[in-house]
Amino acid sequence: MSKPVVAIVGRPNVGKSTIFNRIVGERVAIVEDKPGVTRDRIYGTGEWLNREFHIIDTGGIDIGDEPIVRQMRHQAELAIDEADVIVFIVDGKEGLTGADEEVAQMLYRSQKPVVLAVNKVDHPEMLERTYDFYSLGLGEVFAISGAHGRGLGDMLDEVHSSVPQDIEDDYDADTIKMSVIGRPNVGKSSLVNTLLGEERVIVSNVPGTTRDAVDTPFTRDDQDYVLIDTAGMRKRGKVYETTEKYSVLRALKAIDRSDVVLVVIDGYEGIIEQDKKIAGYAHEAGRAVIIVVNKWDAVEKDDKTMKRFEKEVRESFQFLNYAPILFLSAKTKQRVQHVLPTVKEVSERHNMRVPTNVLNDLIVDAVTMNPTPTDHRGHRLRIKYATQVAVGPPTFVLFVNEPELLHFSYERFIENQIRETFDFEGTPIRIFARKKN
Ligand code: GDP
Ligand code: GDP
Repeated sequence: MSKPVVAIVGRPNVGKSTIFNRIVGERVAIVEDKPGVTRDRIYGTGEWLNREFHIIDTGGIDIGDEPIVRQMRHQAELAIDEADVIVFIVDGKEGLTGADEEVAQMLYRSQKPVVLAVNKVDHPEMLERTYDFYSLGLGEVFAISGAHGRGLGDMLDEVHSSVPQDIEDDYDADTIKMSVIGRPNVGKSSLVNTLLGEERVIVSNVPGTTRDAVDTPFTRDDQDYVLIDTAGMRKRGKVYETTEKYSVLRALKAIDRSDVVLVVIDGYEGIIEQDKKIAGYAHEAGRAVIIVVNKWDAVEKDDKTMKRFEKEVRESFQFLNYAPILFLSAKTKQRVQHVLPTVKEVSERHNMRVPTNVLNDLIVDAVTMNPTPTDHRGHRLRIKYATQVAVGPPTFVLFVNEPELLHFSYERFIENQIRETFDFEGTPIRIFARKKN
């Protein structure tokens, strides 16, 4: 199920980032978790009533040196184009301003669901601060206090019920959804063009989903695929599309809808920090991943170059140790023919189920080889049995005496044992412990 996108818009200082941080809480992506970059935290995942959603603080998208009103216009434009629900924050302390009215008109015309929240209503007796805002014509006004957390529940209820019903993809379950991500200029569009131009690839003329008309469905060797568009591939010429933060948003949305993600890096330029961040999103989302080292034609090589580069990739993307690496050239088409067969293979593994008896034999052997850990009280982890509870990614539950006793290192060990027995190359796997007496 793909996550809806919720965008926060509003003037500077109304409290957008305060509210964003409250909603996202501590759930910040591990790969992004660096201290001191709070102003940069504009993407997050929230959860309300058991539904996860992406949340973006558009105030953090720096459109460049422009007057505030123009910046707000671009931010609102982005929210209208990309979000499923827009949360419009105004400032109850300052009252209604002309800029609020202008944004309200844009949002109103867009016909996107808008939830209007008046922030800084810190006490119930300040409720009168909200009255003026009814004149914006956006319906109910939610009184909130980002600082104190008041009213956020009611506001999120409204967000939840405003998510349109038709955001699910309508592709066949057998269709492999794939996307190509990477920083600008690594060769994403070149790779896509080469892939779609390959012999035996039949591109369908039928437009994709109602939601995103830029998807490209195609078929090769009787297998249906859909290529999900990402930033940098088909720009429509809007100002915000040139910002890096925007391309992160497109990548996140594409990853979300994909079964398989191709993470493209530039073999000529090498790996930079931004590559790791982008790859981290794919890993966190639990998608199958293939690392593509592009522009291999431009690299001066000897017999050890590929090995050396592979080592560098493994060191830089340790969390993706399960991902196959393809060295290729979108330009000369060298080895591009391996891409779709690999996509198909990793997609199959992403959806693979293993027999419960083999899994449990494996756990017994693993525990014999490497006894389970104990804690300072001498309590030892006991694994009663294991079962696979989900695919896409394969997810395992270990039923144990005390779930807290399953530490990361032992979990890693179990994961490695599972990977040695079953071929899960290309897909992350997840392991959880549940209590069982
Ligand atoms: P942004 O520019 O819209 O992201 O706004 P910030 O979240 O950075 O907040 C701007 C200022 O408003 C900060 O000084 C916050 O502490 C303050 N603020 C945010 N929410 C509230 C609130 O609910 N009540 C009050 N009194 N101040 C708030
Ligand atoms: P994107 O921004 O990631 O979509 O990158 P593009 O596909 O637009 O490619 C960026 C630049 O890299 C262009 O000048 C391409 O011609 C060049 N390029 C793409 N793939 C290759 C390749 O395999 N080898 C070489 N030498 N150049 C490439």
